[in-house]
Parts: sequence; C-alpha cells; structure tokens
Amino acid sequence: MDDTVTSNLPGTRDLLPGEIDRWQLVEDRARRIFSQYGFLEIRTPIIEPTELFARGIGEDTDIVGKEMYTFVDQSNRSITLRPEATASVVRAYIQNTMYRGGGLTKLYYIGPMFRHEKKQKGRWRQFYQIGAEALGSDHPAVDAEMIEMALWLLESLGVKAKLLINSVGCSNCRPPYLERLRSELEQRLPGMCEDCRRRAATNTLRVFDCKVESCQPFIDRLPSITDNLCAECGNHFAGVRRHLEQAGISYEIVPRLVRGLDYYVRTAFEIVSGELGSQNAVAGGGRYNGLSEVLGGPPVQALGFAMGLDRLVMILPEEQRADFKWRPDVFLAYMGEPAFEKAGEIARELRHRGYSCYIDFSEGRLKGQMRLANKLNAEHVLIIGEDELSRGKYTIKRLADSRQWEVTIPELQDYLATLNRSI
Ligand code: ATP
Ligand code: MG
Repeated sequence: MDDTVTSNLPGTRDLLPGEIDRWQLVEDRARRIFSQYGFLEIRTPIIEPTELFARGIGEDTDIVGKEMYTFVDQSNRSITLRPEATASVVRAYIQNTMYRGGGLTKLYYIGPMFRHEKKQKGRWRQFYQIGAEALGSDHPAVDAEMIEMALWLLESLGVKAKLLINSVGCSNCRPPYLERLRSELEQRLPGMCEDCRRRAATNTLRVFDCKVESCQPFIDRLPSITDNLCAECGNHFAGVRRHLEQAGISYEIVPRLVRGLDYYVRTAFEIVSGELGSQNAVAGGGRYNGLSEVLGGPPVQALGFAMGLDRLVMILPEEQRADFKWRPDVFLAYMGEPAFEKAGEIARELRHRGYSCYIDFSEGRLKGQMRLANKLNAEHVLIIGEDELSRGKYTIKRLADSRQWEVTIPELQDYLATLNRSI
C-alpha cells in the first residue's frame, strides 16, 4: 500500500489562491445579480437522506442509478452527498412551510455537488453549481425572468452563450404523445444503441438524450413533444417565448431538449457555450410543478436552473481575470527585536483600520525585507529602526515612485485615509 497521503481523489481538485479570484468574481457577481432579481440565498446540508434524491431525481436516472456517493453512517442511515440541490431546496421549502404566506419564493444557492462520473474534460466528481429556484407560480413571465437572470449573469461576465428552449408538456399531453413515441420507436429500436433500447422501455423521453452518432438519424425522425402539446402547454410556451422576446432575448427551440421525469413539465432550457467543446452546457433548468408532491409536500408550481461554476470559470474571458493579485498596503520592515515588536503593534492597529499589512517573520536584514516588499508589490514600506523607535517617527516609502518621507503613526493613518482604500 502507498504510504503517502499527498494526492487528492480523482475528479476532485484544490482551487489555489492564484485561481480563486476568478471563482470569487463569479460568485460575487451571481450574488449581486440574483439579489437584484429578488432571489435570497439558502444553504442546505451537503448530506441528505438517500431517499430524497432517489425520489427527487428519480431511480432510473444516471445520477441516482450510478453516480451518487452513498454510505451508511454510524446511525445506520443511508446518506448521500448531494448530487444537485433542487431536491434539497424543495425539501427545505416544504419542511419550513415557506409556502405558507402564498406568493412566489425565490431562492438561490452556491456550493459543491458530488457525482461519481466518468472523468472527462469539464466533468468533475466534486463540482460547483450556482442555481436558483422560484417556487409558487406557473406564470410564464417567471420562467422568462429566470432565464433572463441566468443570461444576464453570463453576459455581465463577458461570456457568450446561447439559449436553447423547449416545452415538455404536462400530464395531459405527455401520455398520449409517449404512446405515439413508443410505437414509432418500436420499428427503429433494433438499429439503436443498448442505452436507447433500455430507455425506450423505462424512460422513453430520455432516448432524446442519446449522444451515440449512429442513433441520431433515428432520433431526428421521431415525433417531438413540442409538436404535440395540449392547448394549455402551447399557450404557456408561447407566453414564455413572448416574454423572452420582450426582453430582447434570442433563443433556439430544440424539440429534443427533454427531461425524463414525470414531474418536469413545460419549460425546459439549456444554456450552451461554443467554447466548451463536447461538455458544452453551462446551465440547465426547467419547470418541476410536480416535485413537491413527489416528496410529500403540497402541490407547488416551480422552476429552477443550475449553472456549472467550473465550466463558467473555464470560459471566463481573459479581461475578466483581471489583476486581483493581493498586495499589502503597508509592508512593515524592521531592524532589531524592539522594532520587530513595534512592527507587530503598528500592523495590528492598521489592520483594525482596514489596511492590509505584511511582516516578514524571518527576522532577516533590511535588504532582504525590501526585496520581499518589492516581490509582493507592496504599495508602501514603513521602515522601523532603533532610531525611528526612539523618535516615534518612521520612514514611509512609496515603492511606485520611491518617494520617502517621515511620519508619526497618526500622520501615517491620515495619509493612508487620503488614499481611499476600501475596507
Ligand atoms: P450534462 O449533460 O453536461 O451531464 P447534466 O444534465 O448532468 O449535464 P445538470 O444536472 O442539469 O447537468 O447540471 C447543470 C449544470 O451543472 C450543467 O449544465 C453543467 O454546467 C454543470 N455540471 C453538471 N455535472 C457536472 C460535472 N460533473 N462537472 C462539472 N460541471 C457539471
Ligand atoms: Mg450529467
């Protein structure tokens, strides 16, 4: 057995300080934009009863069937690391009777999800999603507003993306359509892949998810749900499109964009980017009017989407990766033990006032400290020597233009205040 523990699990990774800025940029932007649209943050547990996902995502999905991290804990409970957050959000909504006041509840989340997937570019086993859920309305304008919000987040980050939409019908129009689909599939199945044959029997709509090249000609000729919507679903879809058009949002209707489960109704959408290669989906979403009841809650009309943060960060344009590199406002250079202590005291005071400070703890020579200050791109160096200590006046040096002058600590604070550093 290998006796070192210096590598992480496949499909997971460390996000290091050098790249975390991009993640924070995206997260901060999402928080700001989502709150502008009235969405409030919710944080649900990362572990949930396995049953929540089995019911909420569906037993015969890839996620539940083969991708979940499930274990039995010390209390003999079956527990799963969340592979997505919608089921948890709906559970929390029911459990905390958030439907009580009536009206629309808008929630968003940011956090890690876990799926034991095959390793591929753009696919991780621990990955991150930003998602939003709007619960309590079936109005097509809610669908359009949510799509607008997701697209605006991407646009504001300079990410070019395309919206694909569809309607997957409801419990009125889907059963007769599925019957037609099954009978058409029957003749074609012998030429199709094993997954398709299995799906045709268990979860017919998901045949449309097949990515196997040789199945595509068959799939292209199947009847689409989009052409078989009932009047209500047709009107709802027209409403969503009208609201999108009013918002100046272009879209492509993709009849084969489907969701395999009964409680997914009407709007289904995906946001894709040409820059992602074969894993090109940045976000996916849709209506799930039946989910609350599946979990044992009241009927709740709702929709949501989840955006893949890993993929979004990957395609963030260069100019958005702006130079966030941390730099100290003041580097405190010292000579000798008493000055070292004084440096700690001054740094504490400055930090409490909101400035970033750096002290080199190696107690080396001044020259080495100045070199480090330059390397860290410090804005100023405060030099504390024995002479300065006794006079209570220190030399401050601005590295950009090498200007240096003498200050007392109150004078230094007044000077720093004029620089308008944000806290
Ligand atoms: P895909 O078709 O790419 O497998 P999905 O239908 O499984 O996507 P959702 O469950 O709808 O994806 O998740 C929404 C978004 O989360 C995806 O569009 C993608 O950006 C991201 N995502 C999903 N799985 C992963 C993963 N394993 N690694 C990184 N990002 C992921
Ligand atoms: Mg997937």
